[in-house]
Amino acid sequence: MEKTITALREREIPFAEGVSAERLTTFGSGGRVRCVISPRSVEELRFALKVLSDRRVPSRVIGGGSNVLLPDQGYNGALLSLACFDLLQARGCEVSVGSGVKMPLFAARMAQTGLCGAEFLCGIPGVMGGGVITNAGAFGGMLSDLLTEVTFLSAEGEVVRLPASCLTFGYHSAVLPRGATVLSMKMRLAQGDSASIKARMREMMNKRLSSQPHERSAGSVFRKTGNTPAAIYIEQTGLKGKRIGGALLSAKHCNFIVNEGSATTQEYYALAELVRERVAALCGVRLDYEVERICSPTKS
Ligand SMILES: Cc1cc2nc3c(=O)[nH]c(=O)nc-3n(C[C@H](O)[C@H](O)[C@H](O)COP(=O)(O)OP(=O)(O)OC[C@H]3O[C@@H](n4cnc5c(N)ncnc54)[C@H](O)[C@@H]3O)c2cc1C
Repeated sequence: MEKTITALREREIPFAEGVSAERLTTFGSGGRVRCVISPRSVEELRFALKVLSDRRVPSRVIGGGSNVLLPDQGYNGALLSLACFDLLQARGCEVSVGSGVKMPLFAARMAQTGLCGAEFLCGIPGVMGGGVITNAGAFGGMLSDLLTEVTFLSAEGEVVRLPASCLTFGYHSAVLPRGATVLSMKMRLAQGDSASIKARMREMMNKRLSSQPHERSAGSVFRKTGNTPAAIYIEQTGLKGKRIGGALLSAKHCNFIVNEGSATTQEYYALAELVRERVAALCGVRLDYEVERICSPTKS
């Protein structure tokens, strides 16, 4: 890792060492991350990825950290943040957006511009790049409904533009070529009236605020099974309000585990596994995780 750090320093690519995972994910658990790199351009990103790959340093892209949990023992590798990829440009109904733009900010800017269709993104606390990878969706809308093109950096370091129709999107999932880093995307929205778009967004936010916990969380713990929300099964376990360490199964929405302040990733999973076992025993259903667990690399 030291040689990687030296290479980044020489190339003047912004990075931070020993970053607390608490700042990187919405749940806020986990140990320190050895290095967080924040490239400002495709060239810097390409350089950083090459150095990491040449030196076999484990690395991951992190967006808003709202669908991932980091290991308690720390991440002995590099996380790449594309926060600087913050282009946001509308030409008529065609919109170009960088991966680092926060989804709620995007929704608000579209509302301001009088473009409709992106309202459902207003309460999803990730960034657009993470949104593509997870095909973020809510209130019947999905990011893939809006996408016309996705630009990514391939594992080989090539900038590739693909029509969205060439990619496969599913429920909270997308299939991109292995090792692809999403750089930006194009979307088509529709002309609308700014005031009514904002009113719809307020309505969606109110629904969220009244049905979801306000404490730190990583969103839904489990995916739907078929069309059945995981909460329907979890309700039957009687585990609402169950606490393991600082992790609490929300009484407001039982498919959310909230961080009461000092929860560890291990506590989160101990609670989630308890829920899973009870659901399997009571309902005969095996719940799949929505949240992604980033594991600690064994070497760097
Ligand atoms: C309170 C709360 C409410 C939520 N509500 C919803 C909801 O209504 N609907 C919904 O769909 N989700 C919801 N989520 C989950 C989460 O916000 C979404 O899954 C979101 O799209 C994740 O985006 P992110 O930027 O945080 O991605 P991260 O969690 O940072 O990363 C997710 C995955 O994408 C990868 N990744 C991120 N950026 C890139 C990139 N540029 N290139 C390649 N890979 C990348 C990461 O490596 C990781 O594998 C909610 C979460 C919370 C905390």
